[in-house]
Amino acid sequence: MGNTISLKSSEEIKIMFEANQIVAGTLKMLQDKIKVGVNTLQLDELAEEYCRKAKAKPAFKGYRGFPGSLCVSLNEQVVHGIPSKKTVLKDGDILSIDFGVNYKGYFGDSAITVPIGIINPKIEKLLSVTSESLDLGIEQMIAGNRVSDVSLAIQNHVESNGFFVVKQFVGHGIGKQLHEAPEVPNYKRSGSSPRLMPGMVLAIEPMVNVGTSDVRVLKDGWTVITVDKKASAHFEHSVLVTEDEPIVLSSRTVN
Ligand code: MG
Ligand code: MG
Repeated sequence: MGNTISLKSSEEIKIMFEANQIVAGTLKMLQDKIKVGVNTLQLDELAEEYCRKAKAKPAFKGYRGFPGSLCVSLNEQVVHGIPSKKTVLKDGDILSIDFGVNYKGYFGDSAITVPIGIINPKIEKLLSVTSESLDLGIEQMIAGNRVSDVSLAIQNHVESNGFFVVKQFVGHGIGKQLHEAPEVPNYKRSGSSPRLMPGMVLAIEPMVNVGTSDVRVLKDGWTVITVDKKASAHFEHSVLVTEDEPIVLSSRTVN
């Protein structure tokens, strides 16, 4: 990604809201389909069909050669899991689904982690802490604050609950490109960090692990897993900085 942080015009923001609402609609639709016995390729096909009907293109398909429309990451998988007929959901699993679209030249990006059946209380806590850390990060998206304020809010909430943030993968600016400047780490980095300005749109995406920050990539070249094989959760929203409160473009409760 380049270093310049783009500020979106009101016309661009309107399109980005529409793009992100297609993503939100897809995730809401999928939430009802995620059940014991379903395989992740079926979910991928549903996502692609939904977004093409909405006249959007799935953003991840073909991105650096990624084979799916949806990233589906099961249990110890953190991000970038590949949809497969062989991955069949079982009671007690958690599935992270990350989806992006390109609509009228602009990108939307959002993710949720969904429990399947009854999950153990520690994993339930992981999901709520990860989702809360996203909300707390978004609260810091006030003009004049820095990206590091977002990072720190996420890290503090995660670590004070005994969990670990992933450091090798980060959130990002989004707009005409899926990944734009700036990087949005889920932990405080040393050195200066960009100031937030009205018109910036950032994809905030805490990836949170039960047992360690450390992750590695499987031989398929995509799937990121925790090194201790304990569970990981991922929630993401694309969010606009304004003169006032931040606006969650990918909110699933707008309509
Ligand atoms: Mg994403
Ligand atoms: Mg993203």
